[in-house]
Amino acid sequence: MNSGINTIINNMRLRRVSKSLKQINSLSKEYANYTDEQLKAKTLQFKERLQSSKTTLDKLLPEAYATVREASKRVLGMYPKDVQVLGAIVMHQGNIAEMQTGEGKTLTATMPLYLNGLAGKGAYLITTNEYLAKRDYQEMKPLYEWLGLSASLGFVDIPNYEYEENEKYHLYHHDIVYTTNGRLGFDYLIDNLADDIQAKFLPDLNFAIIDEVDSIILDAAQTPLVISGAPRVQSNLFHIVKSFVETLEEDVHFQVKFNKKEVWLTEEGIEAANHYFKVNNMYENQHFDLVRIINLSLRAKYLFKYNLDYFIFDGEIVLIDRITGRMLQGTKLQSGLHQAIEAIEDVEISRDMSVMATITFQNLFKQFNQFSGMTGTGKLGEKEFFDLYSKIVVEIPTNSPIKRDDRPDRVFANGNIKNEAILKSVVDIHRTQQPVLLITRTAEAAEYFSQQLFKKDIPNNLLIAQNVAKEAQMIAEAGQLSAVTVATSMAGRGTDIKLAKDVFEIGGLAVIINEHMENSRVDRQLRGRSGRQGDPGYSQIFVSLDDYLVKRWSNSNLVGNEKLLSLESSKLENSTLFQRRVKSIVNKAQRVSEETAMVNREMANEFEKSISIQREKIYDLRDQILEREHFEDFNFEQLARDVFANDIKYKKLINEEALINYIYKNLSFVFNETVSNIDIKNREEVIQFLIKQFKQQLNHNLKEVSDPYLKRRFLQKSFIKAIDSEWIEQVDNLQQLKASVNNRQNGQRNIIYEYHKVALETYELMAKDIKRKIIRNLCLSILTFDKSDDMVIHFP
Ligand code: ADP
Ligand code: MG
Repeated sequence: MNSGINTIINNMRLRRVSKSLKQINSLSKEYANYTDEQLKAKTLQFKERLQSSKTTLDKLLPEAYATVREASKRVLGMYPKDVQVLGAIVMHQGNIAEMQTGEGKTLTATMPLYLNGLAGKGAYLITTNEYLAKRDYQEMKPLYEWLGLSASLGFVDIPNYEYEENEKYHLYHHDIVYTTNGRLGFDYLIDNLADDIQAKFLPDLNFAIIDEVDSIILDAAQTPLVISGAPRVQSNLFHIVKSFVETLEEDVHFQVKFNKKEVWLTEEGIEAANHYFKVNNMYENQHFDLVRIINLSLRAKYLFKYNLDYFIFDGEIVLIDRITGRMLQGTKLQSGLHQAIEAIEDVEISRDMSVMATITFQNLFKQFNQFSGMTGTGKLGEKEFFDLYSKIVVEIPTNSPIKRDDRPDRVFANGNIKNEAILKSVVDIHRTQQPVLLITRTAEAAEYFSQQLFKKDIPNNLLIAQNVAKEAQMIAEAGQLSAVTVATSMAGRGTDIKLAKDVFEIGGLAVIINEHMENSRVDRQLRGRSGRQGDPGYSQIFVSLDDYLVKRWSNSNLVGNEKLLSLESSKLENSTLFQRRVKSIVNKAQRVSEETAMVNREMANEFEKSISIQREKIYDLRDQILEREHFEDFNFEQLARDVFANDIKYKKLINEEALINYIYKNLSFVFNETVSNIDIKNREEVIQFLIKQFKQQLNHNLKEVSDPYLKRRFLQKSFIKAIDSEWIEQVDNLQQLKASVNNRQNGQRNIIYEYHKVALETYELMAKDIKRKIIRNLCLSILTFDKSDDMVIHFP
């Protein structure tokens, strides 16, 4: 897979890390002679040297790695091999180590985790699912503890578990934490909704290693984590717009670029809409919602396909994961798209929830001071890793050469003939007792093959959407003599398949894949199920023109190719011309799919930039407020002045009535002074007057609380409450804005530019609103004390 120049570059990179490996190896004899006590004492010595700034983590690397290596031999009975040490060095440097399945990435990660854990700022191992996090944590924990570092699992592995106060704090405050991207992401968002410093539990995110990094930050990039808030006001236009959309003709009223996920109205379409809805110009501001719903309905109808992107189950729309073919139960498209599909499919329209907090995994990991990754298939994502994170991918050689035979694809005219051939092939392999793993894209296909095999009296294990622990156990058994396992692509990922002794002589594990996946990285992952640690084995992918990839991403078929179509299907398959044609169609479809996914990720990233900058600022601001021990040095007057100066200008406080109303709304319910002696035209005079009112009211409220702690809490909460309510609204606005500019996409406007422009404008407005709201909270809140003498703040 490596062409010349890549190999040269990779070898150069390997040579550089090999220097450290040599140093580590030169220590191994000496360390092997240490007593347990001497070896264990290393940890404290390292920490002391770091604390007294006598050394840095980089300088400490050889000694630290040599220590882990020797300790691992004694505690786990495994001595990290040279190739593992190479991977470990790459990861300390913040890059991606490509290491094949079965090479021992779990053990490899212990070296950089230990080294970075020494700094006492936390080191994370992040993996895709809870089963793997727990398994790896349990296996490696004895090693860390033996060495004197603390390790934890970052969550409690019980469904719907209710955490006790401070429990999360204790889970996260360890030298080394094992967790999943989902858990950490949600906790990050939750932590930043805390309204009290005591309720915050997450430490600064320092160092992380991401296992299966391509799957987490590339494949999962399109689905951000979302914490939902209140239901949104529902538009009642979905049904009528659906009827309208059904009257439209493609290429006359609208155009579709399916692969780019774009659809837009033409001039004629816009006219038709104006006519249908009896409006002058639908793009006038008051028809904003109409335009939004029309665009959503067009997208729903023409960009989403029944059975490919979603299907109806129990009267509800259930999304399908395009990579794995799994149902995404409980997942909904955002910002009205889900509702538009529901309308198109005539099922009951569900409620659209507002978005309260959201972050993509890419941005989550950018919160870390440093992160690195490991995966069996990093090279194919190298360009993106570099563009997004400036990380390079270093291919680590396998400990023993790969013996797996990746056979050329087998090509068939249609799905039926192909399925027959797959079954025959499994039967043939099974006859020799060689274990076979049949991998399908969808659960339906897996079920189909499993049943067909049973009909042929071939017992088999079917792995679909079971719980991951069970899947892992079943896939681990796939290397036994005569084992037949049928699984979807994601099933059992991260668990390596060990071969039974007598399987080595008969060729190892055979992996049969029923079609190419949407991304060649996934194909490679699947092939890698076989041939671990130099084991024998082979892999083969079956293709036909009915494959999902072709249907989804290709416009070409064999129609028009007289020579091929005149052949009978049995002859067809033997025709090299046919084979070549189909292969090229399938390969091209996969390339289109990969490129589209990449472009979509790029776009998603571009869109994320605004929200991510804004989120960082807001979260910083919150932290500053929460960390404040008192507000004595806070310049309330300046805050008030900013607000009043702005409001006088924009809220037109140009007469007595407007001014009094403003005071009632923002400063005092009981204002009863006269304002007739104020020169309304004199801006400074009005500001001074308002500041006086503000100070009076604030002092009045503060008099209610004598306790300094409660005083601080009141001030803090007034700030936090103002920030949160405005920010949550802004997050939801940005989400909606993104959906609406995405809809406006017509190739002419620079939608990203437009989005960032509006995002910035609304941010500036929000910043002003936050300040005004703080003033209101400080002045108009009513403080009471409940029976147990706790302060209750009634915000306006
Ligand atoms: P990967 O994540 O790279 O696919 P794993 O971390 O799951 O691989 O390890 C695969 C197997 O190899 C595990 O059973 C593990 O215990 C074993 N292993 C890893 N490193 C070593 C080693 N240095 N010596 C012996 N066994 C090892
Ligand atoms: Mg692994």
